[in-house]
Amino acid sequence: MPARILDGVAIARHIYASLVPRIAALKLRGVHPGLAALQIGDNAASRIYVRNKVRACTEVGIYSEAHHLDADCSEAAVLKTLEKLNRNPQLHGVIVQLPLPPGLNAQRLLQTVDMDKDVDGFNWANLGALVDARKGLVPCTPLGVMAILDDAGIAIEGRHAVVIGRSPSVGKSIALLLINRGATVTVCHSKTRDLVNHAARADILIAAAGRAGLVTVDMVKPGAAVIDVGINRLADGKLAGDVAFAAASEQAGWITPVPGGVGPMTVAMLIANTVTAAERIADAPKLPAAV
Ligand code: NAP
Repeated sequence: MPARILDGVAIARHIYASLVPRIAALKLRGVHPGLAALQIGDNAASRIYVRNKVRACTEVGIYSEAHHLDADCSEAAVLKTLEKLNRNPQLHGVIVQLPLPPGLNAQRLLQTVDMDKDVDGFNWANLGALVDARKGLVPCTPLGVMAILDDAGIAIEGRHAVVIGRSPSVGKSIALLLINRGATVTVCHSKTRDLVNHAARADILIAAAGRAGLVTVDMVKPGAAVIDVGINRLADGKLAGDVAFAAASEQAGWITPVPGGVGPMTVAMLIANTVTAAERIADAPKLPAAV
């Protein structure tokens, strides 16, 4: 039987709907959630990503600002902008759109984002919280993967999950979320020997390598949940994931398409993280004013 297609656009719509009453409750308390996105340079894809994020904010009634700096700006100028955004009480989320132009130290800049406003979850304090299964802000794509699994009612505890990819913000964070939920997790990467054998034993197979066609049907256990995080631009201009979709969908129990799977969930989880950040900032005990 062909796999059930997990529709990220529809699940993202549920996520947005679930945010509406939370945003309304914040507004009743005088808090209007706000997100700022900083783009540096003129990467065309980044421009589209920032535009989509701003549009998503508008659709759910969140305030947003898009900031831009030239590709040849100094690191000091970026730091100054980020510090200003960190201090702005109208903003509960601050993101730096990646990739950055050469010459800028992405890690140093990402660590400058206030951990309470770090709605991309890239700050080491938030990644550390994830390692320790403590409350923090979790990277959006991994959060989106978990929301897809949960929406479909796919059991996680006690299942064997295989994650292909180990970048901190994608593969490794997905692996940590799965471990924190009680899965037994194998993480594969470019040095893994016998990827096919590892993948073929997965109840939940997550492909996050950025290699079109890497996951072939022999790597899919019958009935497995296959979540394709990869986004690859093919020679004909079309987008494809890491999974050979047509064949894999004949073998899997559930599968995400590309486009229309994990991608829309990433933006939805960014908006969800902004609402969460606004709630936590609003609930945080206020320090008495200095005398
Ligand atoms: P990345 O930093 O380049 O990491 C890729 C990972 O895949 C690395 O850990 C690499 O192993 C591993 N890998 C590469 N080739 C492999 C192979 N042949 N076999 C096994 N493992 C292999 O990329 P990323 O930022 O994690 O993103 C991964 C993919 O997800 C990309 O296609 C990206 O565009 C996509 N993505 C999608 C979304 C979304 O919203 N859908 C969001 C973020 C990223 P090593 O560590 O050994 O090099």
